[in-house]
Amino acid sequence: MKLAPLLALALLFSSCYHSQTADLVVHNAVIHPMDEGGTTYQAMAVRDGRIVELGPERQILNRYKAEQRYDAMGRHIFPGFIDGHCHFLGYGLNKQKVDLHGAASWEEVLERTRVFAEAHPDKVWIMGRGWDQNLWEGKELPDNAQLNALFPDRPVLLQRVDGHAALVNQAAMDRVGLDPMRSVEGGLVVLRDGRPTGLLLDNATTVFQKVFDDADEATKRKALLDAQRDCFGVGLTMVVDAGLDPGTIDLIQRMQQEGALKMRVYAMVSDAAEHLELYAQRGALREDRLRVHSVKVYADGALGSHGALLKQPYSDKHDHHGLQLASREHFLEVAQWCKANAFQMNTHCIGDSANRLLLDVYAEVLGGSNDLRWRIEHAQVVSPEDLPKFAAYSIIPSVQPTHATSDGPWALKRLGEARVKHAYAYEDLRKTLGMLALGTDFPVEGIDPLQTYRSAVLRQGVDGWPEGGYQQENALSPLDALRGMTIWNALATFTEADLGSLEAGKFADFVVLDRDLMRADAEWLRKAKVVATFVNGEQVK
Ligand SMILES: [Zn+2]
Repeated sequence: MKLAPLLALALLFSSCYHSQTADLVVHNAVIHPMDEGGTTYQAMAVRDGRIVELGPERQILNRYKAEQRYDAMGRHIFPGFIDGHCHFLGYGLNKQKVDLHGAASWEEVLERTRVFAEAHPDKVWIMGRGWDQNLWEGKELPDNAQLNALFPDRPVLLQRVDGHAALVNQAAMDRVGLDPMRSVEGGLVVLRDGRPTGLLLDNATTVFQKVFDDADEATKRKALLDAQRDCFGVGLTMVVDAGLDPGTIDLIQRMQQEGALKMRVYAMVSDAAEHLELYAQRGALREDRLRVHSVKVYADGALGSHGALLKQPYSDKHDHHGLQLASREHFLEVAQWCKANAFQMNTHCIGDSANRLLLDVYAEVLGGSNDLRWRIEHAQVVSPEDLPKFAAYSIIPSVQPTHATSDGPWALKRLGEARVKHAYAYEDLRKTLGMLALGTDFPVEGIDPLQTYRSAVLRQGVDGWPEGGYQQENALSPLDALRGMTIWNALATFTEADLGSLEAGKFADFVVLDRDLMRADAEWLRKAKVVATFVNGEQVK
């Protein structure tokens, strides 16, 4: 029979053509799946929020009858970006405070605060965030003399850009009953001639924590939605919030269940006895959009405010080593709790001494290689002799490439020639365990993951500083930087089965870019833009 082959072909064709349904087909794209294979695809089909198939244009378009089609017009698609360490709620709350970022002088800080106070006569507390004395002539830390004169009755609290120092006026100290003479472990109330200057370092600010935590639900809801809008705008599909209280975590869960919050959140539980007690009973939480599986601990302060704990004194403050925020016993106790409850321990360590202390505490409790995925947050100054501990105890370095390009101009002054070579050493860190997690620590830095990418690969800031890159020997390769923002961040949050790459079975979280990021050319990358963002197959930007 002559007709048989034709008939067979026709039957085959009809059984294939639109034989399957999808909610969304994305086509005419260059899809970089960031999987092991290293190939690219032209199209993919999505059903129930997950990718069902990736393949050539015709194959996907022919096979799937889709409710919705997205023509990428030849653009590049990457897995949704994950910010491996940020303060999602904090960023949103900041939008309701005086923005002091980039203020070029103390006078400008005062002026911005005055304008804000006038515009918000109903606010009892005037809160500000973002000043940085390193941007001012003289680079001197401020005192509250002028703030007292300007605001004799209204309490004012202005946080430094890193959140590790705050300036408060007399009215604020009176309101919380701050006793400047009482010593605080891991904190400092800065005095001059025996009188408080209003400057508080690290734990000394904790008496004001209640003022922060007291934000009511409406304020927090608005903050979370504001943060979500901005983050979707720059291509983020999951954020790792480095320290939340259980009440806020529960609010996030409710907002996700209501459908208002679509952002995926990996919430680190902030270190407090009552939080750990609660989660010892609840256990880890694994929902599609919310994971609770870790505790956030602080070992030391920040480099900018001389709070980072260093083995040798600061190069620009010879009698000072920085601040250790809790005792070794405390870190050990939390570590034992984490191991017993199968939680991840994530500790903020900036200085080389803080890094060594926590690496050794981790080592003592972990005992060897493991799959608990404990992390050191920031790992900013790490002595070469401590590096092998990351691999030996399977500890993940979690770093923020924009810190290198923001701190670069003054880090040398704090650390000196020899130590600064081991600061922001991301490639050295990557080589230890073969991976690292990348984030921004926003609102300390900006939220843009493309700037994280540029700071990691080109080692240049938004302004293109410095020419040739900052300590360029520690730049990451383009592929590793992208892995750090996607699949490695998924590994660092136990979500790699669902997120971090574009593969059949994983959630359809992806970002559409106007160009290929793999071309590591400074001019080219500076112009890169996010065209669209999808979470769970739903377009959110
Ligand atoms: Zn942080």
